[in-house]
Amino acid sequence: MLVVGNWKMNLDLAAARQLASAVSSSIGSVENVDVGVCPPFVNLDAVYGVLHGTGIRLGAQNMHAQDSGAYTGEVSAAMLRAVGCHYVILGHSERRQFFGETNASVSDKAQKALAQKLVPIVCVGESLPQREAGSHEQVVESQIQESLSGVHISSASELVVAYEPVWAIGTGKTASPQQVADMHGHIRRLLEHLFGRELGAGIPILYGGSVKPGNADEIFAQTNVDGGLIGGAALKADDFLAIVNAARR
Ligand code: PEP
Repeated sequence: MLVVGNWKMNLDLAAARQLASAVSSSIGSVENVDVGVCPPFVNLDAVYGVLHGTGIRLGAQNMHAQDSGAYTGEVSAAMLRAVGCHYVILGHSERRQFFGETNASVSDKAQKALAQKLVPIVCVGESLPQREAGSHEQVVESQIQESLSGVHISSASELVVAYEPVWAIGTGKTASPQQVADMHGHIRRLLEHLFGRELGAGIPILYGGSVKPGNADEIFAQTNVDGGLIGGAALKADDFLAIVNAARR
């Protein structure tokens, strides 16, 4: 199981250090579960300083697909590696919605991330109108196929997929256990088709969308749910610990 905290655009330097310390001291040694946290770019180095040696891994929330150059405001995969990142979240719905991220740009970024030995956490998920129209499986299928086009891996641990229904992110609404199980089964079949049975069966599929201590057990118990991508609840060390403990069970 894998639990990753997405801190989004929250916490200044001092608060990020504080949360990283609280998370590492409350989680202690990481056994039976992989744990990662993804602070804003400017706090990556400081958080790495706190987490180094604890087993909790660092991730970024985005990156640029080019190696370097005149891309004001952007950060490359190699830069993320250099500050100790293991993961990079790609194609989060907030980036798709507010910053024009497309499946094609996610595919470019995922290929570059892999070339730099970062593990991309590729996010997919339907909007509420798409769910209500019954096109959610088709939407996620296109997102998976196009975002992972040209992506090659030699081990299942090189890639993570996160299913995050847009209507459940930061809203307090969670997909029902049946909705989660159905979509994760669909994604599993797509991954097996794209990467072959063996690799596709092992790629972790995280659920994200208002996961909290109170619902984590039920969500993590579903078939093909290999952990969670946690937003709001990752900002409180106690809640994050409770979710990590649910993944351990
Ligand atoms: C997220 O942003 O990836 C997320 C799942 O947020 P929340 O847990 O707050 O819904």
